[in-house]
Amino acid sequence: MTPDDIFALYEWTMGSCFRCADQDVLVSRVGSIDTPAGDTYQLAACGSCILALENERRRIAARRGLDYEPGTVGL
Ligand SMILES: [Zn+2]
Repeated sequence: MTPDDIFALYEWTMGSCFRCADQDVLVSRVGSIDTPAGDTYQLAACGSCILALENERRRIAARRGLDYEPGTVGL
């Protein structure tokens, strides 16, 4: 599976990355956080961070003997 294959699994918009703090880059939504005050923050990650998160998930899946399914970071 190439990086392009993984990128094709996500929807991309311009925004900032929660992980590396890059701004005005292509990001994909990976989740949201609700604060005690009732605000909701959207979390989005840039391409290189998505790849890093996918790699992490693949390693964890392999270690636990689970199937790795790309394209589900944040789901
Ligand atoms: Zn990033």
